[in-house]
Amino acid sequence: SLRTTDLLNRLSPAESVSTWSSCGKSREAIRELLEQKISESEVNSATGEMRDADAFFVADLAEVYRQLVRWHTNLPRVQPFYAVKCNPDPRVLALLVKFGTGFDCASKGELQQILSLGVSPERIVYANPCKAINYIRYARNNNVDFMTFDNTEELYKCKQHHPNARLLLRISTNDENSICRLSLKFGAPMSETEELLRVAKTLDLNVVGVSFHVGSGNLDPASFIDAICRSRVVFDQGERYGFHFNTLDIGGGFMSDSFEQTAAILREQLDTHFPANVRIIAEPGRFFVATAFTLAVNVVAKRRIPEENKVMYYVNDGVYGSLNCILFDHQHPVARVLKHAGRMCYNQYVGTGDHVCSIWGPTCDSLDVIASDARLPFELEVGDWIYFDDAGAYTVAAASSFNGFQTSKVEYVSTDLV
Ligand code: PLP
Repeated sequence: SLRTTDLLNRLSPAESVSTWSSCGKSREAIRELLEQKISESEVNSATGEMRDADAFFVADLAEVYRQLVRWHTNLPRVQPFYAVKCNPDPRVLALLVKFGTGFDCASKGELQQILSLGVSPERIVYANPCKAINYIRYARNNNVDFMTFDNTEELYKCKQHHPNARLLLRISTNDENSICRLSLKFGAPMSETEELLRVAKTLDLNVVGVSFHVGSGNLDPASFIDAICRSRVVFDQGERYGFHFNTLDIGGGFMSDSFEQTAAILREQLDTHFPANVRIIAEPGRFFVATAFTLAVNVVAKRRIPEENKVMYYVNDGVYGSLNCILFDHQHPVARVLKHAGRMCYNQYVGTGDHVCSIWGPTCDSLDVIASDARLPFELEVGDWIYFDDAGAYTVAAASSFNGFQTSKVEYVSTDLV
């Protein structure tokens, strides 16, 4: 299989940087596929037959690849283990398998999915500090031995069901500046790490390093500084308890917009605190997929509210489907017009407009609201299309078919990469 690192070696640094930075998204290919799928959904003029106008995603696999190149260019020391939970799309996974990333799995189902792609267990970190016993046994039976813990109960479970696991102690971080805080639920406080290491030593378990997560959607690149300093403290504690730590897992939280800034901080901090013989891995999810997916939805109904001079639009995907990210991931997807009055307008109206409206998902629940105060350039008609950019992270992954609405299918561009 091709590895991104091999690919980068073949390119000069200047070329590899221009490969990802100059081309941006495959806008033209995305536009063409959106247009093709929408025209296929319209009434067949010869027969009058109405075809399905279901909502759908367009996934740009080249964008995932570009993010991967961008990762290796900026963080050559850090091996990415893609967080499958973020978007387990089979083609995205196939691409990442081909280009040699590792995978962060959170459950037996994710372990099964990744192992079924022929990925060696060595390339998996089972990064859930609180695991069911039968999942731990599944990991052991399938030679997945790299996993995280943050409490003593987990150590006793490991001793009994996976005594040869290579364990990473997940520590808590200050994740106040993140969109989704994770340290409220996981991560040992610094006051407990010594005791955990003592118990692990007594049980003769193999703790090989530290892991942390600064919170998903991290808004302050400096959060990594504190987390790396905490990790250094725990590495030193590990030495004192007779362990030989060799791995630091810096988790996820990487945002595309601030990536270069974050990477610069990380390079400096890692080199200052961790010698080159310490293996550094990470668990990025959002960074690889957020910008790669575009969601197209059809306006299936509309209602005027004259007293408010507003229009309510009802579209065929929503909060119970792909746009569950509004609730679970605190996202604010921006609606843009994709097709109006028979004319495609992808990427045309990127600013806001004067037409104030609300946009609702298709279910019977009033919680299913995509935007209460959206601004579009003009009034839409039933049958028009809207799209949402940057719809790849924590969308398809948690979509349900509540009320009998099917989850949106994914169409792909740049399939030659897989
Ligand atoms: N690793 C763990 C343990 C997580 O819980 C998550 C997200 O919840 C991730 C990695 C991925 O984080 P992100 O998508 O912010 O990179």
